[in-house]
Amino acid sequence: MKPTNVIVVGAGIVGASIAYHLARQGAQVTVVEQASPGSGVTRHSFAWINPHGEFPAAARPLRSLALADYRRLQQELPQLQIQWTGALTYAETGPDSPDTDTQGPMSSAHWIDRDRIGELEPNLQELPRRARYAPGEGSLDPVATTQTLLEGARAHGARVLTQTPVQGLLVEGRRVLGITTAAGPYLAEHIVLAAGCATPALLAPQGIQLPVQASPSILIRFDAPRGLVKTLVSNSLLEIREAADGSLLAAEDYIDDSGPQGPEAIAQQAMASIRRLFRGAEKIALRSVEVGQRPMPCDQLPIIGPSQQYLGLYLAVMHAGVTLAPTVGRLVSQELLLGQCSAELASCRPARLG
Ligand SMILES: Cc1cc2nc3c(=O)[nH]c(=O)nc-3n(C[C@H](O)[C@H](O)[C@H](O)COP(=O)(O)OP(=O)(O)OC[C@H]3O[C@@H](n4cnc5c(N)ncnc54)[C@H](O)[C@@H]3O)c2cc1C
Repeated sequence: MKPTNVIVVGAGIVGASIAYHLARQGAQVTVVEQASPGSGVTRHSFAWINPHGEFPAAARPLRSLALADYRRLQQELPQLQIQWTGALTYAETGPDSPDTDTQGPMSSAHWIDRDRIGELEPNLQELPRRARYAPGEGSLDPVATTQTLLEGARAHGARVLTQTPVQGLLVEGRRVLGITTAAGPYLAEHIVLAAGCATPALLAPQGIQLPVQASPSILIRFDAPRGLVKTLVSNSLLEIREAADGSLLAAEDYIDDSGPQGPEAIAQQAMASIRRLFRGAEKIALRSVEVGQRPMPCDQLPIIGPSQQYLGLYLAVMHAGVTLAPTVGRLVSQELLLGQCSAELASCRPARLG
C-alpha cells in the first residue's frame, strides 16, 4: 500500500516530534521549516518536563502521559539526553506550601521535610519547612532534542527542508492540497501546522481566526559553579536548574519591555535571589537574557486536531510544548495514520473554538 504523505510545517519541538512519530509509523514525511530546527520559541525554553503546574484541568489527562512518553522515547532514541534530576516545588515565602497535588502518575511526587530538602539541595541556605518532590521529573536541551527527533525522522525516510518559509496553503474547495513556497508548491494528503505563534498568520488568508497569542516569558542564563543546584527548584521567586553545559538556567515571568520591570532588571533580581538562596552562588555571572514568545491558545488548552473548515488540514499549537511533544507526536500519528482518536485529545479539539 502507498504510504500516507504528510507535510509538517514547523520544526520546533512539537513539529519535530510529530514528524518523528509519523515517519516511524511508515508515513512519507516532509518537514518544512522557515529557518533552522528549534529556532522558534523552542530555543528559549526552560524545558522542564512538567506534568503538573498551573494549567486548565482539562489538559491534565494529556500532561499526565508526558513522563511515560519521554521514557519510551529514550528507549527508541538512545541519543536523547534528559537530565532526570527530579523537581522540588515550594512557596518561598509564608509558613507553608499549598496542599494541592496535581502530579501525573509517573512523577511519584510526595511531600518531603526540611532535612530531606537539605540532602537534595545541600547549597540551599533558606530551607523551607517542606516541599513537594517529584523524583520522576527532569529537563532537557530543547534544541538538541528537536534535532534528535528530526534525525530519528530522517532515519525513517523523512525529508527536512530548512530555510524554506511556507507562504500559504494550496486550497481547492474545502480541501487543502498542499503548501506554497518560493521554490514552488509541495503536495500532500495531510498538512500539519505546527508553526507555533506563526500558525494564525498561515490560516488567516483562508478566513480562519485561530485564537492564539504570543505570550512572552524570560529565560536567563548564568555562568555558575557546577553542582550549585542539583535538582530543578521551583518557588515563588524563580524556577532554576543546571543546564547540560553547567550553566544555570532561570525562567521568569515577563512584565514589561524595559525599565525597572524589564527583562534585564528581572535578570538582576533573579541573580540577587540566587545569591541569597544558594551557598556558593556569590560568583555567578549573568550570561544572557532572552524573551521567548510562547504560542498560547486563548483558553490555554492545546489546539490539536483536524481543522473544522478544511479537509486535509491538521493543527498542533500549544503551550508547554516541551512537556507535551512526545505524547502529542504519538497521538497525532495514531490519529492520522490509523484513524485512532485518543480520549486524551478530546478537550484539545479545534472545534471547541467555534
Ligand atoms: C522562557 C520560557 C520557558 C519555557 N519553559 C517551558 C517548560 O519548562 N516546559 C515546557 O513544556 N514548555 C516551556 N515553554 C514553552 C515551550 O518552549 C513551547 O511550548 C514550545 O517550545 C513550543 O514549540 P513549538 O514547536 O510549538 O513552537 P516553535 O518552537 O516556535 O516552532 C515553530 C516553528 O515553526 C517555524 N515556522 C513559523 N512560521 C513558518 C512558516 N511560515 N514556514 C515554515 N516554518 C515556519 C518557526 O521557525 C519555528 O521553528 C517555555 C517557553 C519560554 C519562552
